[in-house]
Amino acid sequence: MSEVDKLTELFTRFPGIGPRQARRFVFFLLRQDAGYRNTLTRAIQDIAANIRQCSLCLRYAQLQAKEPICDICANSGRSKSELMIVEKDTDVEQMEKSGAYSGQYFVLGDTLSLTGKKSFIREKELASYLKKHGDELEEIILALSATPDGEYTTEHLALKLEEGTSIKNAKVTVLGRGLSTGSELEYADTRTLEHALKNRA
Ligand SMILES: [Zn+2]
Repeated sequence: MSEVDKLTELFTRFPGIGPRQARRFVFFLLRQDAGYRNTLTRAIQDIAANIRQCSLCLRYAQLQAKEPICDICANSGRSKSELMIVEKDTDVEQMEKSGAYSGQYFVLGDTLSLTGKKSFIREKELASYLKKHGDELEEIILALSATPDGEYTTEHLALKLEEGTSIKNAKVTVLGRGLSTGSELEYADTRTLEHALKNRA
């Protein structure tokens, strides 16, 4: 395998990137000066060295020095009685930008697939989170994308949570559909998110 092929293959593993785009990235990099390539290489090494997965919400962040948790989980000013379940790290970022929510998060990492594609949702991790923190919760907000897979996952989790014993005091709500059908949470603007949060049911 040539060096160009090797880097192309690595880029095709990126979400949403096909072989042709991957190849364009490689030739783009070849056209840049060495300074750009070095900065990029260092930036990749830096995130690997400094960004870790939070042991509570499972999002990737620069963790606290004392505990392996992120700034959101460590913030004592945030409500401990609300938990929002989202698919991706970028959904947390978008929700934080809206400023409409000040509870806890859990990042599921994936959705279930209606087409039977292998799914990597962190269901076991969610169960153990709820075992530890379920007692404190008054509400669990399912905030997955308004896509078919997102809605399928919402139904599945709502059912599982209702059966579960670790959250007997918490009600399960779903983000209001101010989000248009088919839209992913991370692309929703902050006012839409605020609206969807207000209209949860
Ligand atoms: Zn966290």
